[in-house]
Amino acid sequence: MSDVTVGQITSTPDSDGNHRLKCPKCHAEFLAHITSNDDTQQANNTVCEACGYSGKPVEFLYQANKEVADKMVGDYAMNELKKAFGGNKHINIKL
Ligand SMILES: [Zn+2]
Repeated sequence: MSDVTVGQITSTPDSDGNHRLKCPKCHAEFLAHITSNDDTQQANNTVCEACGYSGKPVEFLYQANKEVADKMVGDYAMNELKKAFGGNKHINIKL
């Protein structure tokens, strides 16, 4: 098995440099800066303003963009199924 990249979640900050984030724990939505450590260049953990949950920024970005991200995964899976079974007239693939 090898890893597959199905898409990249991108987030564009607003004019104040804030990203739209959503807590994966309590689902509170808020705006915050995503900062990174000067030494390691690793993104600092994001802390939820509502419940205090601390996690990687990508977790918050994924929640905020979940519908788009899930659709990318779904489309990818559907294309793979069509490739695998598309030539078989006994199998009908519908969304
Ligand atoms: Zn929270």
